[in-house]
Amino acid sequence: MKEISERKQLTILQMNDSHAYFERHPEYFWKNGEQIYENVGGYARIATILRQCREARSGTVLALDNGDTIHGTFPAVHSEGETLIPILNAMEFDAMTGHWEFAYGPEQFLKVANTLSYPTLAVNCYDSKTGKRVFPAYQIIERNDMQIGVIGIAATIIDKTMPTSFSKGVYFTLGNEELPGIIRELRDIEQVDLIVVVSHLGYPQELQLAQEVDGIDVLLSGHTHNRLYDAVVVNDTIIIQSGCHGSFIGRLDLEIANRRVKSYQHDLITVDDSIEPDPEVNALVDKALDPHRDMLDTVVGHTQDALARDRVMETTMDNLLLHALISVSDDAELAFSNGWRYGAPVPLGPVTMNDVWNIVPVNPAVSTCDLSGIELWNMLEENLERTFSRDPYQQMGGYVKRCLGMNMYFKVENPKNRRINELFVGSTRVERSKKYKAVFITSQGVPVKYGDHRKDLNIRAVEALSTYLRENSPVSSKLEGNVVPI
Ligand SMILES: [Zn+2]
Repeated sequence: MKEISERKQLTILQMNDSHAYFERHPEYFWKNGEQIYENVGGYARIATILRQCREARSGTVLALDNGDTIHGTFPAVHSEGETLIPILNAMEFDAMTGHWEFAYGPEQFLKVANTLSYPTLAVNCYDSKTGKRVFPAYQIIERNDMQIGVIGIAATIIDKTMPTSFSKGVYFTLGNEELPGIIRELRDIEQVDLIVVVSHLGYPQELQLAQEVDGIDVLLSGHTHNRLYDAVVVNDTIIIQSGCHGSFIGRLDLEIANRRVKSYQHDLITVDDSIEPDPEVNALVDKALDPHRDMLDTVVGHTQDALARDRVMETTMDNLLLHALISVSDDAELAFSNGWRYGAPVPLGPVTMNDVWNIVPVNPAVSTCDLSGIELWNMLEENLERTFSRDPYQQMGGYVKRCLGMNMYFKVENPKNRRINELFVGSTRVERSKKYKAVFITSQGVPVKYGDHRKDLNIRAVEALSTYLRENSPVSSKLEGNVVPI
């Protein structure tokens, strides 16, 4: 058949999971089998990448943000996301979706979303009372004489594993059931040239989604902090994901003809020093940070080991946090925290208040409870399933729950509820009916259904961690073999 239309260019730029890292910050890289740290990122440099691309390929660029954008650092949390607004508007994204955006409650996120100059899209977020969508499912955006149907999918775990305030009055689906109808509507009625999905389900979930839903041309993947140096194609869907903390930007150059992608080129751009900061966004970042700089720059301690969070089983950053929780708990023998993925590494040397806030930006109350041996076992099995489920749609964890005071030896490949082989508290095997005192932060650390005598101590995580650093520096934080796959 003769090709009737010319090839048209479209460039898609992706930012995902920047977690409100306003400025350059340490990021890990692999070099000769070692982990090294380099300072990268910052919205002013990202703005330059966007601007230069728009200048070079005028009228053909679509810039999309997968969310986890307005939460993750002190200035963001302090302003409930609002301090990001002028910066994001200056960067002129075309659409976004969300996850940690809901940490301030859906109402506050709606307020922020309404002041952004571009739409927040979520095909899978509904009002609990009316059953209606809270955000538009899609936006049709014109570029280079083409109509692009951009569909958003927010994180589905917000009302399933996260604190209940995140989903007050709303609920979330996976989006996989809604998508075919929306795609038909966009393709057949709206006659769009291309379908782009900007998602926050997570890479394993999105690979599954692309496999089962036909007609997605490009899927921008988010949430799980994968650095995809090469785009992946599943069921004719091109998938990219671009790291986290704004350390990388994904670039996808497409050639399109007859409403289909004919060829593509992908680049994972490191936001490094070779990129000049954009002066306008630089000034806006300064404006957002200046009121807090004195506090954030305060050195509270020193670390002899790099504090990193990029491992699925156990991390030096979280072990330090858990030791700090134990230190304020009187007599807890166990400590738990959520397996958060975000939190830029802290190389060895001084630790500032900025680092402390980056480690635990939600700054929850430190809580205690008594867990029976069987509750402990079941809680850990549930968490392993949520992290490693064979069904990607059942994966709802971050990394494995952070644990201290115990040693768990388990088989990743075993089925649900059958993974743990051996579990010790201190030096002895866990006993089913024995009670163990635990200190933890958030209902993701110890879900509400587990434990008795649950109470909040009169101290929050940031104070516990900064005090621990002040009193114990230089600190050393190693992997201790708390969570060991065998
Ligand atoms: Zn996320």
